[in-house]
Amino acid sequence: MDSIKKLTELFAKFPTIGKRTAGRFVFYLINQSPQEIDDLIEAITDLKKSIQFCQFCFQPFQFDNQDIKFCQICSDPARNNLILCVVEKETDLLTVENTKQYKGLYFILGGTLTLRKTDGANLRINDLKNRINQGGFTEIIIALNPTPEGKSTSVLVERAIKELPKYSTLKITHLAQGLPVGGELEYADPETLESAFKDRK
Ligand SMILES: [Zn+2]
Repeated sequence: MDSIKKLTELFAKFPTIGKRTAGRFVFYLINQSPQEIDDLIEAITDLKKSIQFCQFCFQPFQFDNQDIKFCQICSDPARNNLILCVVEKETDLLTVENTKQYKGLYFILGGTLTLRKTDGANLRINDLKNRINQGGFTEIIIALNPTPEGKSTSVLVERAIKELPKYSTLKITHLAQGLPVGGELEYADPETLESAFKDRK
């Protein structure tokens, strides 16, 4: 396969990138200097070498030392370890974190149910149950996107939590209404997200 076509197909696999944008990336690269291409290749190679997944929340983080197992948030003693916020993906964690309102812990579910994946096998439901079993949480906030996929996933997560023996000591909350319906957390403005958190129930 010729290199333009091959690279276009690789870029087209990126989230939210269609074939046309992928093509633009390729032509952009063609016009870069060999040094800039090398820098890009190095940055991509380093990403896999220096990043690992937090063993609690699954957030990818940069590590200098192989013995570090938890990300900065999970290893911060100032965080409130009674509250756990379940989000769909890494960028949602960052979006919530950027509001600077939430001080509890997170768990990244790793996706949502989709039309083709309806059993939740693609999600970290079992890991979530383990975290809740091992932790001393009093509240679990289900902060999935207010999309149809996010909503059906919330139902699945809630059902899984309700199966736990610890359920009687837990409060399950959801973000308040007001987030754009069918939208995604990462596109909500910070004030809206902040009040959706404050008014959760
Ligand atoms: Zn973590």
